[in-house]
Amino acid sequence: MLPTTLAQWQTYCQKLSKEGRAFIQGQYKAAQSGKTFDCINPANSEKIADIAACDQADVELAVKAARNSFETGTWRDMSPKARKQVLLRLADLMEAHKQELAALETLDMGKPISESLSVDIPGSADVVRWHGEAVDKVYDEVAPTPANVLATVTREPIGVVAAITPWNFPLWIACWKIAPALATGNSVVLKPSEKASLTAIRLAALAKEAGIPDGVFNVVPGFGHTVGKALALHKDVDSLVFTGSTRTARQLMIYAGESNMKRVWLEAGGKNPNIIFADCPDLDKAARAAASGCFYNQGEVCVAGTRLLVERSIHDAFLEKVVEAAKSFKPGNPLDPATNMGALVDTGHQASVLDYIKVGSEAGATLCLGGKAPTDTGAFVEPTIFSGVSNKMRIAQEEIFGPVMAVIPFDSEEEAIAIANDSDYGLGAGLWTGNLGRAHRVAKALRAGSVWINNYNDGDMTVPFGGFKQSGNGRDKSFHALDKYTELKTTWIELG
Ligand code: ADP
Repeated sequence: MLPTTLAQWQTYCQKLSKEGRAFIQGQYKAAQSGKTFDCINPANSEKIADIAACDQADVELAVKAARNSFETGTWRDMSPKARKQVLLRLADLMEAHKQELAALETLDMGKPISESLSVDIPGSADVVRWHGEAVDKVYDEVAPTPANVLATVTREPIGVVAAITPWNFPLWIACWKIAPALATGNSVVLKPSEKASLTAIRLAALAKEAGIPDGVFNVVPGFGHTVGKALALHKDVDSLVFTGSTRTARQLMIYAGESNMKRVWLEAGGKNPNIIFADCPDLDKAARAAASGCFYNQGEVCVAGTRLLVERSIHDAFLEKVVEAAKSFKPGNPLDPATNMGALVDTGHQASVLDYIKVGSEAGATLCLGGKAPTDTGAFVEPTIFSGVSNKMRIAQEEIFGPVMAVIPFDSEEEAIAIANDSDYGLGAGLWTGNLGRAHRVAKALRAGSVWINNYNDGDMTVPFGGFKQSGNGRDKSFHALDKYTELKTTWIELG
């Protein structure tokens, strides 16, 4: 029986084991330096666990373990059906440990327990299952060559994959990378964010229990400038997959160029427009979706609809609806099953979000809702809405990664498109209209990897996810994800 009250969750969490060591060659290991850092619960600033502060020496061990396992073929050469069975077992184990994984996620990064339980953990298991199920259903190609030739086009695993992942959906985004990497026969070294490492570390033991051979899946916790940098510069890492900030993404491209030209695949945030036309068929639905599209997960979502573009003729009435919808997001104890908005990941990030709110006010935007930390303890920020925003303002151009919405009026379809595309980013975009022609026209004109019409941020494993422009390259989810983890080989056979 799952806990149903705050008190029950708190009791459960006190007893929960919180492993913080690295996982290399099938075993938990302290950092070779013996160093650790504190893992802090952002809802109350209490220490939860010690995390291994790994560095270059631990990265060396992990990459060597991954390389050896790849070269010996313990996983790579397993039949696709056998690899599928292991991944399906892993998905089952994740679901069986749903309560534990959800509690670790919520304690570590502050999201509501109800969402960890209903979204993050089942979503993560679904990713592993989807890629597992696909393994023995993907065929290679025979090229339409002249009759005296047989040419095959095959996908081969790329080798050692390093995954550097963020803290907003720690387990889920890690699975977006790990699952296709493993499904295609690679060996993996995962570096979770130093701000949320617990579920990735726990996942390693579940993967071993599911039957992933030792050395094939390693987890090295630690900081970006130590573990992340060492992985990105490592000459024996073949592919580097990343989700995080644009600043780090740029750096990773440099590291790859300075080392071995490893493949680099980046998802690096967004400043996503959500456009409400006056002919939107259901303004109430659009207002609810605009609020949840911006404030879900405390606004710590790369694809959050943080720029709300509203046609001037409905601007005031729509703004009122969005403010009302946003009021339903109430920051509270993340372990309380009734909470729908948790804490930000840490107090440093809280300070950065509050600073952006100050920047917005100073630039002349009108604060319509929120704007403060609601409590003295914990990294909470109220859902915050600014109206009267110009797209040139910093709050409309920079990724705040917190619960802050910038409302921008527009007068025509052309102007809406121009404002929407006036951004360094191009991850997601929404548009709401009852006009079919306009829906297609605007969707085509938007420079974004995902466009949602009359909804915001829906999706599942069947559709790819990733960005245009400085939102990155490559795609997670769906068969398109396999591009990151495989090389294409053509074999040209002379038939005589
Ligand atoms: P955020 O500011 O949201 O934490 P980051 O881009 O800093 O976003 O973090 C995303 C991931 O990138 C984390 O795992 C982090 O440790 C890692 N990282 C940060 N800086 C570097 C770096 N210089 N080299 C490699 N990895 C890094």
